[in-house]
Amino acid sequence: MRDLLAFIDASPCAWFAADTLVEELTEAGFRPLDLTVPAWDLSPGRWYVRREAAVIGFVLRDKVRPQRFHLVGAHTDSPHLRLKPRPAFTAEGCLQLGVEVYGGALHNSWLDRDLGLAGTVHLAGGALRTVRLDQPIARVPQLAIHLDRRINEDGLKLNPQQHLAPIWGLANGRDPDLEFRSMLATAAGVDPGEILGHDLSLYDLTPARRGGVRNELVFAGRLDNLASCHAGVMALIAAAEGQPEVMPVLACFDHEEVGSESRSGANGELLGGILERILLELGGDRRAFLAALAGSFLLSADMAHAAHPSYPERHEPRHKPRLGAGPVLKSNSNQRYATSAASAARVRELARKVDVPLQDFVARTDLGCGSTIGPACGANLGVAVADLGTPMLSMHSARECAAVADHGAYVRLLAAHLHG
Ligand code: ZN
Repeated sequence: MRDLLAFIDASPCAWFAADTLVEELTEAGFRPLDLTVPAWDLSPGRWYVRREAAVIGFVLRDKVRPQRFHLVGAHTDSPHLRLKPRPAFTAEGCLQLGVEVYGGALHNSWLDRDLGLAGTVHLAGGALRTVRLDQPIARVPQLAIHLDRRINEDGLKLNPQQHLAPIWGLANGRDPDLEFRSMLATAAGVDPGEILGHDLSLYDLTPARRGGVRNELVFAGRLDNLASCHAGVMALIAAAEGQPEVMPVLACFDHEEVGSESRSGANGELLGGILERILLELGGDRRAFLAALAGSFLLSADMAHAAHPSYPERHEPRHKPRLGAGPVLKSNSNQRYATSAASAARVRELARKVDVPLQDFVARTDLGCGSTIGPACGANLGVAVADLGTPMLSMHSARECAAVADHGAYVRLLAAHLHG
């Protein structure tokens, strides 16, 4: 099993994160199921289903039909810059790439970084190639201070259409579209004419690192939410044994950062459809499925805001999670997080049992708050949900920061939940 740093480095975009999850599951003996095949021949053991950049893994512990699901939900996607369908153009003698901002990225964090390119290339007949240009192919150059003298006083304002397009070379009279297609074709090992579509993300090439005077910190891109995917897959692999009537499930969705409404997102039929099919395959009916959901519990695993030492006033004074002080239960009475008093109590009891310290987060009353897959899963499936995550700084920056100690505690807590 890869450690967190290697897991993140292997996963420059959601598609690769799903690949990495599948590799870890396969190595641990999980077998694939095909969503397009009508009947699944399920036997006790470890299984997974993939749809695009979403991966659902589960363990059937015995021939007995499971009575309830213990679920961990996370997401494979992170905010980033994503190439437009016809991205290549030239300006002022430079080759540039048109990008969309995927999710709530901190735009400034993408400036002056060496950027690689990763994703998929689509060919005739539904064929697909993954592409990873793990070299500094692009850069979003910041405007020199001499041309914007008041930036330090007035603050940086970036128009995403105008100011976030990276340069990726010199035009030198070349056709930017041909240049782009030939670069992509070489990376994919196909002819340029074969490429019918692409889905490509830019990513920061700086590897994930331990940091701080005692190596107690993690500096990396995509900690939100690859840290939860990593903790979740470790927990699922550890949860093979346990009560046969409990089925442990890890659901890593795509598209959380853009609202979860997609065929591979949490606000769709993916997870419910898979769980229902499992029970039907095992001889249950829809009533058995609905009864199992009613008794099920999902931990929505996503990162939490640690108190920023330079901006402590941004936090609710009595609910300030600290880096290194343990996982965080997140609550919001407006249901941006799905934690209820009852689900919080259940997590506290579990944490006590496995000796994991817990912290509480609620946003300041005069500040809004983010959301997770938790509310969507609670609403769609009717399962009880608690929102939980490890504290971090710089959320949605191209490079984020968390604490090493929290990750181990997170894995222990998720594993205890999946174990049942
Ligand atoms: Zn997240």
